[in-house]
Amino acid sequence: MKAIPIRTTLSVCPVCMDVLDAAVVEKAGGVYLEKECRRHGVFSVRICDRPAAYRELSDFYFYFVPQALPQREYYLNATTRCSLNCPICYLRYCDTIEELPLDRVREAARIKKIKRFTFSHGEATDCGRLFEMIRILKQAGKIVNLHTNALKIADVRYAGELKASGIDHVSVQFDGFNEDVCRSVRGGDFLKTKLEALENLNRMSVPVTLNATISKGVNEPEIGKIFDYALSAPYIKDLSFITYSYYEPARTNSDKYIMPHELIKHLEAHTDGKISEEAVIAFQKLFYAYMSVTEKRKCFYYFHFMVVRCGRGYRPINEFIDLKKVSRDLSGLKAEKKKLSYARFIWFLILSLTPRAIMLIPAGLGTFLRGGYPRKPGKFLSITFASICDPYKFDARIAENCGQGIITGTRVHDSYGAYLMEQMKKADNRRENCVC
Ligand SMILES: [Zn+2]
Repeated sequence: MKAIPIRTTLSVCPVCMDVLDAAVVEKAGGVYLEKECRRHGVFSVRICDRPAAYRELSDFYFYFVPQALPQREYYLNATTRCSLNCPICYLRYCDTIEELPLDRVREAARIKKIKRFTFSHGEATDCGRLFEMIRILKQAGKIVNLHTNALKIADVRYAGELKASGIDHVSVQFDGFNEDVCRSVRGGDFLKTKLEALENLNRMSVPVTLNATISKGVNEPEIGKIFDYALSAPYIKDLSFITYSYYEPARTNSDKYIMPHELIKHLEAHTDGKISEEAVIAFQKLFYAYMSVTEKRKCFYYFHFMVVRCGRGYRPINEFIDLKKVSRDLSGLKAEKKKLSYARFIWFLILSLTPRAIMLIPAGLGTFLRGGYPRKPGKFLSITFASICDPYKFDARIAENCGQGIITGTRVHDSYGAYLMEQMKKADNRRENCVC
């Protein structure tokens, strides 16, 4: 079957990391990113198994979301040290930093356009001055998040100091309840320790995100279990399913590759269709529209959904917002080649609310006004199905609107995805590992 073009972009050769012309095409019932390096041949990576949905969302994203919006959210690279040595980690290909100087944190805190920092790209709890860094950022009025393996937070005294430093939110790496999975993905069984850390965060009323890395044939059955667990724990505000990515020059683990649409299907099956792929795609259009009017950067491959906790159960967001209607309204605007204003977005949203939505106004308005960042989670659980850049599926047009920048010891980078590709390019140990 002949490939049907969807759009063109730039990517990299996964072996030599040279920049290459690339094409997103539909063929054989899937969507592929294709590119050719003169030295290392053709690379064709399947990025979606739902061509119609992909095309619809891609057209929508590139119509409504302006390119290269200003970046307002940054990772802060406190250290690249880590107490774990996860087999799937890419940090071995990145510059090392022992400890970010406090003056660098003070400089970062003075940048007015940045509203939110996340300690990431290394295990920040292995940095001795983490609490001082958080205090500096909080004194400057920033929202501060921490990505962590959470091992230290299992210590109740450490958890208390973290809370006292002013942290707003903690994202805990949590790949499921299966000990074998934990060993193969993280190099050890840390389930008990992580559950203790989560309990400490719960007791201290620190809002939490669970970040689960999902690999095909490894931990897909955990998706449903993690969802049920998060639903029953109101201090968990987000659930983020991130696809496994591979960084090696040789595709030793390509059988584990999975993309966001497949993650959605797993949750659809687990919930017997209560969370449907159709609703997730419609909600994603609303989310792109929200990004467009608020000028927030976000990756095309970060699909979001939301459920509302009700009693012992939940209702999906499409019971409160008529997503089909709002999707039709937005598509109509696109068909007429009109732009979306903030006022029109709000109007579309109001017209799409169902009678049941009245009960959500108090909690929903606060969350909306804080950019999706409630002081006290509880009512809403947001679910993300996402994929981050790796040398095989790197798409420069999407990376232009990467949802995170990164501040390292020497530079401020506006796209974390592009930063990772730069790091791979200069990594000698990556080329040495090449068996091609
Ligand atoms: Zn090459």
